[in-house]
Amino acid sequence: MTTFSDLKLAAPLLQALSEQGYETPTPIQAQSIPHLLEGRDLLGLAQTGTGKTAAFALPILNYLQANPKVAGPKKARVLVLAPTRELVSQISESFKAYARYMKLTQAVVFGGVGQGRQVEAMRRGVDVLVAAPGRLLDLIGQGYIDLSGLEVLVLDEADRMLDMGFVRDIRRIMTFLPEKRQTLLFSATMPRSIADLANSLLRDPAKVEVTPPSSTVDRIQQAVMFVDGANKRDALLTLVESPKVARAVVFTLMKHEANKVAEFLNKNSVVAEAIHGNKSQGARERAMSGFRAGSVKVLVATDIAARGIDVDDVSHVFNYDLPNVPESYVHRIGRTARAGRDGWAVSFCDPEQRAWLRDIEKNIGKPIPVVRDHPWHSAEAESSTMRPPVLGGGGGGRGRGGPPRGGNGGGNGGGRGRGGPPRGGNGGGGRSGGGFAGRGRAF
Ligand code: AMP
Repeated sequence: MTTFSDLKLAAPLLQALSEQGYETPTPIQAQSIPHLLEGRDLLGLAQTGTGKTAAFALPILNYLQANPKVAGPKKARVLVLAPTRELVSQISESFKAYARYMKLTQAVVFGGVGQGRQVEAMRRGVDVLVAAPGRLLDLIGQGYIDLSGLEVLVLDEADRMLDMGFVRDIRRIMTFLPEKRQTLLFSATMPRSIADLANSLLRDPAKVEVTPPSSTVDRIQQAVMFVDGANKRDALLTLVESPKVARAVVFTLMKHEANKVAEFLNKNSVVAEAIHGNKSQGARERAMSGFRAGSVKVLVATDIAARGIDVDDVSHVFNYDLPNVPESYVHRIGRTARAGRDGWAVSFCDPEQRAWLRDIEKNIGKPIPVVRDHPWHSAEAESSTMRPPVLGGGGGGRGRGGPPRGGNGGGNGGGRGRGGPPRGGNGGGGRSGGGFAGRGRAF
């Protein structure tokens, strides 16, 4: 088995890793690091939870350690682009942790907070800049950041950045970078739009693919409950009140719905916090630390805000709303069953979202077991042929007006209302013995 010292990482990195308790590289690390140490471009197909941050951070730090240089005012030697402020902060924290025994200068740049500190952090230049595209472009435009000396570029969660409508910002940022550089692109999915972006940015890239969630997803027990919209709150409350629910993430489509659900749970003595793009950075960090510490039992999130949720012992994920993008289903349920644990993912499906369920099942390649023995079962939802709502931007949980579903590059074929996978074999209450049987029995 490969070890980190087999990968020939510098001693200060090895020391930091051993203190972090990392013993062996994860598959994405073992596969990517040798190529990256050689200076190759890389196309990585991997999701959060696979260790992809260290897969790019370690060889980059190794390079910086071996090639010390002063970046120069307003310049960065390495740029990591990521879609959300949570992810930007997390990546920056990872760099900090791995670089504990090195000298490293860093800055983070993201919107939603004042720019003063970010500008100040860039004044003398940094080794590593971790940034969300919108604010980065803004600060470049104002003359506070100069990327002309960039040596390494990483695009992390590229599919999500495109979903969030950052494609033009990214293309524009590229015009400020030197041609000669090392470029890494990581994405959880590979729709045509990402393949096109990769083709235009990467030179003869090494290709690395890990499909973790499949192993992770295998450990997640999934269920769907057909419930009318008006009953979702009661159903959710009953489920989260179960002592089996240690820590849960609830997903809604809309930010205002996330607020309402959190409020409802709190009124009913279940401690919940909503996190989404309209919350201040401070509020989100407080919610996350309460959730980590256990004082907050339920985090109610929209897809984008939830990208950064990296908490190991989430026992349940509840899809209060199904996601309108099938890939998001896998991302969402991957918040549970982390670090070798088991987990439950229970989805509510109302009549309007029935078509999305079909697309999700097509995407994951199997039907989700249906649980019918509960007080809110809606036969109407189960047999619904309604057209799902078309989501625009605005208050949606899709950041800057993400595309209506199916619009993220055409990689998943759409197929609204054209039937779905055969659903035979999962009738009669889903998994044996796993059915819902009233208050207190949450799966
Ligand atoms: P990521 O996919 O980068 O979000 O990483 C997921 C989690 O795995 C993070 O909490 C990392 O700290 C952790 N991690 C990454 N690499 C390793 C490793 N080789 N051994 C143990 N934990 C790791």
